[in-house]
Amino acid sequence: MNPEAKVRPSWVDFHCHLDLYPDHADIIEECDREKVATLAVTTTPKAWQRNHQLASGSQMVRAGLGLHPQLICERASEIALFEKLLENTRYVGEVGLDAGPRHYRSFEEQERIFARILRACDEQGSKILTIHSIRAASKVLDHLEQHLSPTGVKCVLHWFTGTNAEAKRAIEYGCYFSINSEMLRNPKHRALVAKLPLDRLLTETDGPFVKNNARPLRPKDVQATVTELADIHSMPSAQMAKYVLENLRSLLI
Ligand code: MN
Repeated sequence: MNPEAKVRPSWVDFHCHLDLYPDHADIIEECDREKVATLAVTTTPKAWQRNHQLASGSQMVRAGLGLHPQLICERASEIALFEKLLENTRYVGEVGLDAGPRHYRSFEEQERIFARILRACDEQGSKILTIHSIRAASKVLDHLEQHLSPTGVKCVLHWFTGTNAEAKRAIEYGCYFSINSEMLRNPKHRALVAKLPLDRLLTETDGPFVKNNARPLRPKDVQATVTELADIHSMPSAQMAKYVLENLRSLLI
C-alpha cells in the first residue's frame, strides 16, 4: 500500500479483518508473497496498535484504525482512544453506519460517533476511509457531505448495497467502491456493480466473514473477484487487474 514501495502489488484487498484469523502473522507473509496490497481493518481502536505493529514489517499490509458501527452500543467510549491514535495512521476503518434490525437501536449514537470520526479525519486531512453503510447509504452520504471538506479525505464504500440513486450520489461525491465475491453472488447487487465506473472499482474480501464453501476467504482470493468483474465488463482479467491497481494508486496519491 506504499506507493513508493519497491515491490509493486499485483492485487488489492482493501477490506480484510486480518486479526480475526488464527494465523494473523502468516497471513501477512502470504500477502507479501502473493503481492496483495491489503488494508487490515480493525473493529475497535484497541486492536489497531497490534495490527499496526504486525504490519510494520510488511510491504503490502497496512492497518486501518476502526470503530465498527455494530459495536458502538458497547464501545462508544473508545472514540476518545480513536481520536488519540488517529494522527498515527492514514488509514481509517472499519467505520460507518448500520441501520439493520440488529443495530438500529444504537443508530443515533452511531451517527454521533461517525460524525466525530469524520470531523477528526477532516481536521487532519489526507485520510483514506473504508466505510460500512448497511441500510444507511443515504445517511452515510449525508454525513460525508456535512462533515468533510470537499478535498483531503478519500472514501471507499465497502460492500455497498444502496440504490442506483445512492450509487450515483456516491460517485458524484467521489467515492470508490470495494467489491467482494458475496456482492457478486446477489443478482441485484451484481447489476448495481456493473453500473459503477471502472475508475472507482477496488476489490476486497471482507474475510473472514465472507467464505467460499465454509472456508474463510484470504486476501489472495481477490483474484477470483477480479476475474468476475472482468467478465461483467467483457474484458480480459489482466486488464481489470490493471484498472484495480491504477485505482489504488490514484486513491493513495
Ligand atoms: Mn468488515
